Amino acid sequence: MEPILLVPGEIEIVVVALLLVFGLALAFAGHRIWKGLMGIIGAFLGFVLGYTLGMVFSGELAAFLLGVIGAVLLGAVFYRLVSTGVSLVIAAAAFTLLYRLGAGTVISLLVAGAVFVIVFLGFERIIALFTALIGASMVVWGLDLLDTSAYLLVPIFLVIAGAGTVVQYYDIESKKKMPVVTHASIMKIDVVKHCPTCGQVLTYLPDYNAWFCYSCGRYS
Ligand SMILES: [Zn+2]
Repeated sequence: MEPILLVPGEIEIVVVALLLVFGLALAFAGHRIWKGLMGIIGAFLGFVLGYTLGMVFSGELAAFLLGVIGAVLLGAVFYRLVSTGVSLVIAAAAFTLLYRLGAGTVISLLVAGAVFVIVFLGFERIIALFTALIGASMVVWGLDLLDTSAYLLVPIFLVIAGAGTVVQYYDIESKKKMPVVTHASIMKIDVVKHCPTCGQVLTYLPDYNAWFCYSCGRYS
């Protein structure tokens, strides 16, 4: 197989290294990179928006403050906005296609609604699948520049794309379970009782299933 990109030796090594490193990162952590990227873009857009508004209606100080507020707000919600927007576009495309095929307004709307829900709820997984495929393609592209045999490239692509998808899905699953566990442990640690007499922190004695105040020397 002929290399797609023809560059002089040293640059080629840099290109190959970049393709391999970014390809593997994308294949195995694509949905995290995507989320981070959306956060950065959102924060940037939020700052520009807030700063511009502040400059129009007030001075430089207000502009800077509004810019920071905008960056924090849009940085936090931009990922949701993009996933909602993409889901809407795909649902609209499904509606248009079905309607053109003569499915009728009601059925087209129902299917489009279902498509929206499926894409929106599964958005993280869709991103994981796409980034695994793109990352595996980048690795194979890099290996292709090293004149790797085409017979090797196909299995390498399949292994990286498959493993990347599995690792990312596992990552998404374990992240979803995490808040429940931390919430429960925080709840346990959070129980702090004070002595009604002196106000000191009470000590819990598991053996007696009771709370004891050491400064008063008695149970509460
Ligand atoms: Zn006390």
